Amino acid sequence: MAKQGNLSINSENIFPIIKKWLYSDHDIFIRELVSNGCDAITKLKKLSVMGEFDQPEGTKYQVNVTVNPEEKTIRFIDNGIGMTEGEVDEYINQIAFSGAEAFLNQYKDKASDEQIIGHFGLGFYSAFMVADRVTIDTLSYKEGAAPVHWECDGGTEFSMEEGDREERGTEITLYLNEDSYEFCNEYRAREVLEKYCSFMPVEIYFADETKEEDDDKEDIPDVVDSTLADDKEDELDFEGDDDKASDEDEDAEEDAEDDSEEDAEETQGPKPINEIHPLWTRHPNDCKEEEYKDFYRNVFHDYREPLFWIHLNMDYPFNLKGILYFPKINTKYDTIEGTIKLYNNQVFIADNIKEVIPEYLLLLKGCIDCPDLPLNVSRSALQNDGFVKKISNYITKKVAEKLSGMCKTDRENYEKYWDDICPFIKFGCIRDEKFNDRMKDYIIFKNMDDKYITLPDYLEAAKDKHENQVFYITDPIAQSQYMNMFRDQEMDAIYLTDQIDSTFITHLEQRNPDVRFMRIDSDLTDNFKEELDEEEEKKLTEKLAEIFKKATGQEQLILKVEKLKNEDTPAMITVQEQSRRMAEMMEMYGMDSSMTGMGAQGETLVLNLNNSLVKYVMDHEEGENTSLICQQIYDLARIANHPLKPEEMTAFVARSNQILGILAK
Ligand code: ADP
Ligand code: MG
Repeated sequence: MAKQGNLSINSENIFPIIKKWLYSDHDIFIRELVSNGCDAITKLKKLSVMGEFDQPEGTKYQVNVTVNPEEKTIRFIDNGIGMTEGEVDEYINQIAFSGAEAFLNQYKDKASDEQIIGHFGLGFYSAFMVADRVTIDTLSYKEGAAPVHWECDGGTEFSMEEGDREERGTEITLYLNEDSYEFCNEYRAREVLEKYCSFMPVEIYFADETKEEDDDKEDIPDVVDSTLADDKEDELDFEGDDDKASDEDEDAEEDAEDDSEEDAEETQGPKPINEIHPLWTRHPNDCKEEEYKDFYRNVFHDYREPLFWIHLNMDYPFNLKGILYFPKINTKYDTIEGTIKLYNNQVFIADNIKEVIPEYLLLLKGCIDCPDLPLNVSRSALQNDGFVKKISNYITKKVAEKLSGMCKTDRENYEKYWDDICPFIKFGCIRDEKFNDRMKDYIIFKNMDDKYITLPDYLEAAKDKHENQVFYITDPIAQSQYMNMFRDQEMDAIYLTDQIDSTFITHLEQRNPDVRFMRIDSDLTDNFKEELDEEEEKKLTEKLAEIFKKATGQEQLILKVEKLKNEDTPAMITVQEQSRRMAEMMEMYGMDSSMTGMGAQGETLVLNLNNSLVKYVMDHEEGENTSLICQQIYDLARIANHPLKPEEMTAFVARSNQILGILAK
C-alpha cells in the first residue's frame, strides 16, 4: 500500500534554491545527516532514562557512515529512535517543508547573503544538494511499529510504503549526482567527517563498503560485547584506514584524535572517527595538563606547545564551554592568525565567526561550544543579537581575568610569556574598551635592564629627570648610541618593538593625556647637555649651518648646536617625534613623505660644541679638509641613527678611503 504524495506547492522551486543557496559549502549535508543520527540516538537515550524505552542490556549506540564508490552512494545509519509512517509524514514530508517555506520567505530578502549558517529545519533536505535520489529506511523503537521505506527523486513527489528494515533505527541513502561523486570517495568523505563530526556526542564509524569482505552491511548490531569484537572486525572494517589499522601502538602516538581513555581499554575492533567527550565538556578539575596539550596538538596540528590556556565552563545564564589556547607565536615569521572553532552541542559550525568571538581573540586558538547560540539566523543578524554580545563579553571577561590573575599571582610566568602574548593584549586593549579597562594595569614593558615594569613604575623612576616623558626603543641596534647615552646619565627607556606598538603608543597617549612618548633618538633632554648662552647659540648655529650646508650640499639641513657632556661625539641626529610619526603614517598609506616639506623625516643634526672636531671646523672655516670633515661628521651621525641610502653609502666609503689616504701621506 504505497502512499504517493506531493511534497508542497512551493517545492517545485525549492530544490534549485537549496542547491544554490542553502549552504555555501556543499559538504555540510554530511554534518546534517550525521547530526540527525546523533539526535535520534540522544532522543532514545532520554526516553530510556525516562523509563519509556526499555534499553536492551549492552546496547551500543552508534552512527555508521559508509560510502560505495561503485554505486555512487553514501549511507547514514543510526540505531536511534527511528520513525513511524506518521512521523515520516510529519517530520519529513510536512515539517521539513514548512522549514523550507520559512527559508524561502527569508531567502527573498537575503538573496545576496551567502553566509546563511542556520538550517531552518532544512537539515535533512540538504541531502538534495548532492543527491538525485534519497531513500529512507526506518523502524521506530515503538512496539509493533512497521518499517517504512521513503523515497524522493528530488522532484516534487515522494513515495512512502512499508519497508523491510529489521533493526531499530534509520538508514538514509544518497544516490549522488554527477557533480558530487567526490563524496563517495573514502578519503574525501573521511575528511568532511573529521571536519564536522570529530566531537559529536555519539560514536561514528566510517567504512568503504566496497572494501568489505562481507556484504551484510545493513547489519548494525544493537549489542556489541567484547567477545564479538574479533568477529566483527572481519565483518565490517569501519576503521577503513590502512595506516591506522596497521599498528595499535604507533597509532596511539600518531593519531591521538582517536585516543581516549575509553579506547585504551577497548583495543580490539574498529574505532570511531570522533571523540564523544571532547576535553571542553569535562570539568576543568578533571583535566590534566598533558590532556590539554594533546588536545591542542590534535585539533590545531600545531606541534609547538601552547603557552597556557583558559577552560571556559559556564552553565548560567547561558551555556558555554570551551578551551582557549594562547599559542606560541613567532612574530618574525608567522602572521598572527589563530583559529577559534565554534560548536553547537559538539557539532562543528564554523571557524572564526567574528560576530561571536571578539576580533582580537581570533589571534588565539580554541574551541567554543555554545548550544544556546541562535545559529538559525544569518550572520548579520548575529551581529546585532544581544545574546551574542553577552557571550562575547563573557569570553572577554574570562580572558582578562586569566591574564590579570596570572600577573598578580604568577608574575614570573606572566613575564616569561609577555613577549608572546603582548601583541594580542595590546590589540585587545586598542579594540575593546572593556578589555582595556580590565587589562590596563597589567601592561608591562621591558626596560633597558631587561626588567619588566609598568608605566607608573617608569614614570615614578623618571620623575626627576624627565617628568611625564617616556622614552622608548624601537630598534636596539640602530638606537644603540642613544641607549649608551641614556645609560651614562642613568636614564631608562622601554622597548616597544612590535608592529602594533606605534598604534598602541597612540592609544596610551590618548588615555594618559599628560604623558608623552618619545623615541629614544627624538630629543636630547637637558640631562645630556650643559647650559648654553642664547646669544652664543644663535651666532654659532648660523655660522655652522652655513658651513655644513655648503659642505654637504643639503640646503634643507636643520641644524642645532649643543654643549654635550660627552665630548667624544661630534654630532648626533635627532628625529622629531611628531613629524616622524606623521611620516611613518604616510608611508603606511603609501604616500610620499617628502611632500610634507620637512627635512628627512624631521631630522635635526645636533653639533656638539664641546667636541674638538667641531671646534676645528669653526676655527678653520676655509681649511683644506674642512669640507671633508663636515661631510664625514654628517654621515657618521646619520649612520648611527639609520642606514644610508645605497648611493650615500658608496660616497661615504669613497670619502673614508680618501681620508685614510690623507692620513697616510
Ligand atoms: P532538525 O534536525 O533541525 O529538526 P531536519 O531537517 O534535520 O531538521 O530533520 C527533520 C526531522 O526529521 C527531525 O527533527 C527528526 O524528527 C526527523 N529525522 C531526521 N533524521 C532522522 C533520523 N535519522 N532518525 C529519526 N528521525 C529523524
Ligand atoms: Mg537536523
